[in-house]
Amino acid sequence: MPKLVMKFGGTSVADMACIRNAAEKIRREVERGFEVIAIVSAMSGRTNELVGWVNDASHTPGSNTPGFYDAREYDAVVSSGENVTSGLMALVLQEMGIEARSWQGWQVPVLTTSAHGAARIEDIPSDNLNAKFKDGVQVAVVAGFQGISPEGRITTLGRGGSDTTAVAFAAAFKAERCDIYTDVDGIYTTDPRITSKARKLDKIAFEEMLELASLGAKVLQTRSVELAMRYKVRLQVLSSFEDCPGTLVCDEEEIMESNVVSGVAYSRDEAKMTLVSVADRPGIAAAIFGPLAEAGVNVDMIVQNISEDGRTDMTFSCPIDDVRKASAAMEAAKEGGEINYHDLIADTDVCKISIVGIGMRSHAGVAQKMFAALAAEGVNIKVITTSEIKVSVLVDRKYLELAVQALHDAFDLDKAA
Ligand code: ASP
Ligand code: MG
Repeated sequence: MPKLVMKFGGTSVADMACIRNAAEKIRREVERGFEVIAIVSAMSGRTNELVGWVNDASHTPGSNTPGFYDAREYDAVVSSGENVTSGLMALVLQEMGIEARSWQGWQVPVLTTSAHGAARIEDIPSDNLNAKFKDGVQVAVVAGFQGISPEGRITTLGRGGSDTTAVAFAAAFKAERCDIYTDVDGIYTTDPRITSKARKLDKIAFEEMLELASLGAKVLQTRSVELAMRYKVRLQVLSSFEDCPGTLVCDEEEIMESNVVSGVAYSRDEAKMTLVSVADRPGIAAAIFGPLAEAGVNVDMIVQNISEDGRTDMTFSCPIDDVRKASAAMEAAKEGGEINYHDLIADTDVCKISIVGIGMRSHAGVAQKMFAALAAEGVNIKVITTSEIKVSVLVDRKYLELAVQALHDAFDLDKAA
């Protein structure tokens, strides 16, 4: 029998009514002839609550510095929300007359690395579940987000990790598709809260989704999209609450027609940091970005300005939350004599806007069109970066909405290809 993976996020299993609603969706697929692997998240808000308790139990009072706790116990506590929903879902399905059974990560087993709090899945042996399907189980309900380390301890995959659980199961069990049920009904050309012209896409290519996911479209965990792309798992994002087709995330070969630009993404909380007048010599970039990486600063865009008199300005962007770490790392490097600069300027009033589309590979003039649209609105561009399928700009945060709307209009994203 063909297999289908169905994943239900926290809002889709938020209470008993939601769990029953989700169970109905599962029943429908069973009746269509699928053996279903249902991956569930914790009830929405539950994981945050568990994290709060861990912090309360083990942080120095008044400190909110993470990392004080024993990460193995963090995982023991934080993984538990999914145990509850998987058992409840199995019970509700049984009440409907469906043969259902729950599995926690360690029972499957979902074998992971021992990087507690951010473990990676190494393997999911399929024998246990397949034996049960043979015995007549129709639905395997699996607790998302968790696995077991080589040491035999419970691990978690990082926040939002049940998406990754779902894709990994779809790959391991060669499922026909992986349906991600959530509280939005698909992937949009941009955030509908910013423009009512945002349009739901029927299909989007893995590469595009990866860019959009990492740019802050919070619908799918980035790692799950990477995994789906690697194993060519067709992913469908759809709503638990509305009965309409969602968006299929798939190989670009499956997409016949698409706009040159598929979507406009943004990330609100960016910062731009400039090291004024550093020596322009071999090794300077390594001397700057080495310490930043060691400090855990998530550097995104990098621009090195033209050098004058052997000195240059180096600008980079990072999440606003990393500014303090970045400044400290740069000051330490200056004190240690590894680098020298006249000034370190942090601009914390910027945001990043990006246009994404696989069509850019074969069309010239896309970046130019973007710049012209922003210019027409009087939006000044501070930093630009491009990749094969993306152009990103850093602009003042006050222009975020205006810039997104202008680009959505300029590329006619309200109209299908
Ligand atoms: N419950 C976990 C979290 O909130 C995993 C997930 O929902 O994907 O991060
Ligand atoms: Mg989630």
